[in-house]
Amino acid sequence: MPEAVTARRYVARVLCLACTAPTPDRLCSRCARELRSPPDTLLPSGQLVIGAYTHEGAARLLVHALKYRGLSVAAEGFAAELAIRVPVSTTALVPVPRALSRSIRYGIDPAAVLARAVSRKTGITVIHALGAPLWWRSHAGASRPKRLRIRFRQRLAVPRGAALVDDVVTTGTTAAAAADALGGLPALVLAATVASKIRSGESPSGGRVTGAPASGTNDRTDPRVPPPNGVFDAPGDGS
Ligand SMILES: [Zn+2]
Repeated sequence: MPEAVTARRYVARVLCLACTAPTPDRLCSRCARELRSPPDTLLPSGQLVIGAYTHEGAARLLVHALKYRGLSVAAEGFAAELAIRVPVSTTALVPVPRALSRSIRYGIDPAAVLARAVSRKTGITVIHALGAPLWWRSHAGASRPKRLRIRFRQRLAVPRGAALVDDVVTTGTTAAAAADALGGLPALVLAATVASKIRSGESPSGGRVTGAPASGTNDRTDPRVPPPNGVFDAPGDGS
């Protein structure tokens, strides 16, 4: 086993996955107290987003640990929450793939890791139905008209009732592009974290649903935003 992998696993056992404070648990008590459940969110595309946590504080640090430190164990907490909340009618989990260049750079495809973790807890099949472009520019800071559509490609068919799985959802741009590539399916998105800057919207089911951010930053957390305690990898150009 490569030395770096062994070291990462050791660190993940003795330090808080979010803030890196020493703790025997995955999260220290302070970070655990910071986690908040987001309301279900209706995106402009009509897709419903169910998130494990609101994208702030410890949850933001935790998703960074998954995406930029390659700590796949960080997906377990998100998956436990999503396993409780995923509708029983869900037929398959379709991870939204990371740009190939970033998967290579960071050594992990976070949505795929998250989908597998949810699958282990629910028994729902994972279908790697989407292919990702080699690279796309981060949407961070771009105004809505300037955001470029990500061109995913369909590799496999997906059944009705499938759910997309992604790490972070803030505007829904990525989820909409993924659904387009699958011919308009699926209508449900499971996300590790969901942005907190949301505006009120209408719920198709009458439930507690809010709209997408009015001026969100990026569906994918921007590593250029420095973490509060400087524990993460060097800045990158996208997700
Ligand atoms: Zn902590």
